[in-house]
Amino acid sequence: MTRNIASPASPEDGVPVSCPACAASTERGERGERGERGEHGEHGGYGAHVDASHPAPIAQDVARSPLDPWLAARLSIPFDALSPATVRARQGDLLCEAVRRALDAPFYRARLAGLGLSHSRPHSRPLSLDDLPGLPFTTPEDLREAGDALLRVADDAVARIVTLPTSGSTGSPKRLRFSDADIERTVDFFAVGMTTLCRPGDVVAIFMPGQRPDSVGNLLDRGLRRAGMQPVLLPPAASGAEHAARLAETGAQVFVATPTQARALADAVLADATLADSMMRDQPLAPRPRACLLSAEATPPETADRVRAALGCEVFDHWGMTETGYGGGVECAAHHGFHLREADIHVEIVHPLTGAPLPDGQTGEVVVTTLASEAMVLLRYRTGDAAAILPPPCRCGSPLRRLGPVRGRIRRYGNHWDIITLAKGVRP
Ligand SMILES: [Zn+2]
Repeated sequence: MTRNIASPASPEDGVPVSCPACAASTERGERGERGERGEHGEHGGYGAHVDASHPAPIAQDVARSPLDPWLAARLSIPFDALSPATVRARQGDLLCEAVRRALDAPFYRARLAGLGLSHSRPHSRPLSLDDLPGLPFTTPEDLREAGDALLRVADDAVARIVTLPTSGSTGSPKRLRFSDADIERTVDFFAVGMTTLCRPGDVVAIFMPGQRPDSVGNLLDRGLRRAGMQPVLLPPAASGAEHAARLAETGAQVFVATPTQARALADAVLADATLADSMMRDQPLAPRPRACLLSAEATPPETADRVRAALGCEVFDHWGMTETGYGGGVECAAHHGFHLREADIHVEIVHPLTGAPLPDGQTGEVVVTTLASEAMVLLRYRTGDAAAILPPPCRCGSPLRRLGPVRGRIRRYGNHWDIITLAKGVRP
């Protein structure tokens, strides 16, 4: 069952509280009378401690996110006119199309019928993003239970099915379907997003699995080749030392790994001077990787610190999930939030209990609508991630909004919510 509680939060809901350690404001996560609070999300979760309430000054020496010109082209907005308002207006158009496509799927035909939305009458007037809070949420449980009812294309138009295991012994696994066009958009996003940290000709070592067609490593490999880089898919390794040895063999300027893999690699290098020396000796022209991208899991700040200490490389973080077609957002060189893939997805932050939209800067649950998906549309999908939208502009000069660090997972209990950190190796 999906709840759609779009009423504004009561004044007692999610009262912003001041953190004595940093003076940043966050939501305590209680409803009604304040009671015992759980873990403090701003400190209990992952991610650098970013002040979400004030934009930082633009830095002249930080390159602007390459996603901006890409978004301008994809959204047909003149580059100089890029702004949260122009992107939002264009996303409203895309939402109309997404709802129309969603109505092809039996699940959404039933779910949206109560709102008067049907194939013959997809919407009485063009929708805007202001209408989004009136649409019902889609939950992970919906995704498990609906199965094929979320599919809106014929089986032979599905190019890839990803099955995500469910926790516990009950329930069906989540199955995501992607068409060739869906996959192409992800490859396109990877090609552009990776130019944030890669230069043409760079050797890029990929630790993610990529042997299967359309697996995440395979899509990244294709995106990198398209952008003029030289990707190298590495076979699975049993230890951090093995990761380090393989990375050294490639001579890579950049590598892509999960935080768990990168942490093991960094620990091995820091613990073994011989290993560190061999990496440098084997790569006389580029003794250490220049940069790395951490992806597929939440990145604890201490992991990023450890990788920097061991390898001396710049660490970029990526946010995404299978439900968004893998890619979702990537840090720019300012390292102050994820620049979002706004041509393909719209991100909302909602109150975890009431479902009411929260203003920029307030931490809540990340909700995603896939605006361009062909095989399977997700309207207002509750990700369970806890994060805030950071107010623009970014220090790189982008005027667009960004998603702040993922603090952990939303946990609801009774009239309370809090944020729990994730076990090592668990993706957000
Ligand atoms: Zn930026």
